[in-house]
Amino acid sequence: MTGFTMTSWTWTVLGLASLATAIGLFLAERQKMHVLAHRDAVPDRFADKISLSAHHKAADYTLAKLAPGNFGQVYALLLMVAWTVGGGLTLLDDVSASFGLSEIWTGVAFLMLFFLIGHLLELPLDIYTTFSIEAKFGFNKMTTSLYISDMFKQMILMLLIGAPLAWVILSLMQGAGVWWWLYAWAFWTAFMLLMIWAYPTFIAPLFNKFKALEEGEMKSRIEALLQRCNFESNGLFVMDGSRRSSHGNAYFTGLGNAKRIVFFDTLLKQLEPIETEAVLAHELGHFHHGHVKKRLFVMIAMSLAGFAILGWLTQQGWFYNGLGVYHPSNHAALVLFMLILPAFTFALDPVMSYFSRKNEFEADAYAVSNSSGESLASALVKMYEDNASTLTPDPIYSAWHDSHPPAPIRIAHIEKQIERQLADK
Ligand SMILES: [Zn+2]
Repeated sequence: MTGFTMTSWTWTVLGLASLATAIGLFLAERQKMHVLAHRDAVPDRFADKISLSAHHKAADYTLAKLAPGNFGQVYALLLMVAWTVGGGLTLLDDVSASFGLSEIWTGVAFLMLFFLIGHLLELPLDIYTTFSIEAKFGFNKMTTSLYISDMFKQMILMLLIGAPLAWVILSLMQGAGVWWWLYAWAFWTAFMLLMIWAYPTFIAPLFNKFKALEEGEMKSRIEALLQRCNFESNGLFVMDGSRRSSHGNAYFTGLGNAKRIVFFDTLLKQLEPIETEAVLAHELGHFHHGHVKKRLFVMIAMSLAGFAILGWLTQQGWFYNGLGVYHPSNHAALVLFMLILPAFTFALDPVMSYFSRKNEFEADAYAVSNSSGESLASALVKMYEDNASTLTPDPIYSAWHDSHPPAPIRIAHIEKQIERQLADK
């Protein structure tokens, strides 16, 4: 790369990105010290529920995941530097231009190559996490052939969905005038909503098998709960999550009348029917309080701000030059924006985590009112144990990163809720 000069914009981006990485590493170090310091004894509250060996496993699993996490953060920072001031994007621009396509299709090729290369660069760390750490703790159920077939399916989907999406956005950027970013945002929003609708019906079945929940105690319990909560769903499904991992979960997908309730087969194996009912009641609590709609609204509002800022940045020469791109183009602007965005939004993480934990408390309270609080608490203990989640996270690490409250705080809240309910009766 010739004649690159660092500008104040370069220093701003590199400085913030380094600060974000440094904070990430500092928090991980705190987490490591805290978990190690509490490894020897099960917290009092859980002494009769969790064995010492399960507590050790949770600590060791938490610690084992920190090292690749730290490596991943530094690696992401280095990749960002290599793509920008390192000249990676300029090189990729030359490669895409050599195909001799029209301007917009050159941009599409550039974006697809960027994502493909990015995916390949992340692969080694993902393979290590799946086949070394997850396997060592007995969570990985993925075979090599399933891993490879998943990877090809993901790449084909990325091309089939990503290329037309990139084409529309680049066409708007080129032809829709100064307000292009507003049209692009409207299109992006429509596209996201379409994906939320299409995902459970068309995409998820490419990766997993979904069966209707069998008749029996579980199903009648759940149907009674749905009726009690006035909730209409478009079916109860069991997903073969055990094909890939023994981590258990339950979730909702879809929008409006297309809502589906999906249980991982691993979760149904872990929990009693009444516990599964309580976990589902928690999920219904998220709908009751409108958490899903609020989150969607925040996402749409933030993407409007993002597109507006991008609309302005594309007009600024320094935006490109300071980051190693000497031939400003719409496709380079899109990639630059995605690469540097985390450096400017990382301080929002603890805010998002805070609101997410607040929602979890509300959903738990709803489950206590409409199902069994004791069963919710016992289900959570089982899920923490089976997933080897630590009961003793560092408070600051947890406040920054955790979308769900740590087990001791969460269960204390549920118990308080149960007492309050008894007092009301
Ligand atoms: Zn929740």
